[in-house]
Amino acid sequence: MRRTVSFSRDSANVFFHLLTRCNLRCRHCYINPDQHGTETLGIDTIDCWLEIFARRHPAANLILLGGEPTLHPDLATAVKRAVRLGYGSVTIDTNGYLFHDILDRVTPHEVDFFSFSLDGPTPAVNDPLRGDGCFVACTAGIPEAKARGFSVSLIYTVSQANVDHLHRMPALLEKWGVDRFFIQVIGVRGQWTEDAARRETLAQVDRKTWLQVVPRVAEDAARRGIPTTFPKVFLDAGETFECAGQVADNYFIFPNGRVYRCPLCEDYPLHSFEIREDRLVATPRINETDLFPLTIPEGCVMNRIVQPRNLAASGNGVPAYKIACCMLKEEITP
Ligand code: SF4
Ligand code: SF4
Repeated sequence: MRRTVSFSRDSANVFFHLLTRCNLRCRHCYINPDQHGTETLGIDTIDCWLEIFARRHPAANLILLGGEPTLHPDLATAVKRAVRLGYGSVTIDTNGYLFHDILDRVTPHEVDFFSFSLDGPTPAVNDPLRGDGCFVACTAGIPEAKARGFSVSLIYTVSQANVDHLHRMPALLEKWGVDRFFIQVIGVRGQWTEDAARRETLAQVDRKTWLQVVPRVAEDAARRGIPTTFPKVFLDAGETFECAGQVADNYFIFPNGRVYRCPLCEDYPLHSFEIREDRLVATPRINETDLFPLTIPEGCVMNRIVQPRNLAASGNGVPAYKIACCMLKEEITP
């Protein structure tokens, strides 16, 4: 069954970057230390910040990220604290290296999903994007997590560099016992975007390619029993545009205390909130919240500003389609 997952005010999503340090140097890394800081948060600070969002949104979904979150020596403690605070779900996003024996220090009752990032079906496709040896490490981590009873999801970030290999993923996911599949579109953000050559090789795929490839792969994965989610990206004629910044509760927290509502804003000091002296405070205008209500024919205003290459005109200057909010997803279930 295919459906668009509507934004919900009933649940909040808290994307918490505990540190920005990472053992990898992915070519498309969105982490920008100039904007997000280089700190590794201490466990007392993590506790305090978890509590702020648990109070504000009881039973929120928590996604723990980095950098590489398993490099944080207190990740297991943070997970246990989140469970005690009543978070509705806890996910750890990892590049697969699983440092600090994390699988032995948390349980499947505490962690709903380990979410592995892999950008190709072979080392030849994945490793030029994510780093030498990364395919082997990631695909070794998946069975280790499964063997200990954890649910596992996999994120594949689609760009021109790997879209032609996406169709090979569903059979592998089935073989590896992956429970959920997330196809992501590459975001044009992070320090790599200053490199013109990289912007060419890692460009977003055009609308025709996206619509031809991605839903079919998602259907294949779903036929194999794996629920699959992918961003809508392009709105069909007649579909209504909505900005998650206005109608949903998503928070992207960085170690320097910045809290964004929109991932496309993360390369700029446009964050809606800051955590200062252990309190969440609104930032002065102008910030991202001032951009969310802007109505433009192209759909998402931040997309128009930071990644306009995915737009097209229909001939008379009118956009050929709208770009959806980057948080709007399609889901295909078995
Ligand atoms: S694993 Fe994540 S944080 Fe690390 S370099 Fe890759 S994209 Fe960046
Ligand atoms: S991606 Fe666009 S539509 Fe979505 S929250 Fe950001 S500004 Fe709003």
